[in-house]
Amino acid sequence: MHHPIDIRNISIKCGQCGNYQTLVGFAPRDDWHVYTYECENDVCAPDVTRTLVEVPAHLDEFARRDPDWRGGGRHGEWGEAAPED
Ligand SMILES: [Zn+2]
Repeated sequence: MHHPIDIRNISIKCGQCGNYQTLVGFAPRDDWHVYTYECENDVCAPDVTRTLVEVPAHLDEFARRDPDWRGGGRHGEWGEAAPED
């Protein structure tokens, strides 16, 4: 049995600076939902420490519940979730 994944229950901690990264973007890609996290401080360069978390689309509870959510704003133009059902 597969359990749905709620991205909000997952913390992304940077191995470089030790701070928690911020969810800044979302994009569907094939059967995956790709969430982008970045350090939002002056310690790390986002291009170096950026994290991409890939969630199987059919398990993604967050995007399914909020199909119009487009990320934190700065990268909202990357895409939108495809509503399911
Ligand atoms: Zn960092």
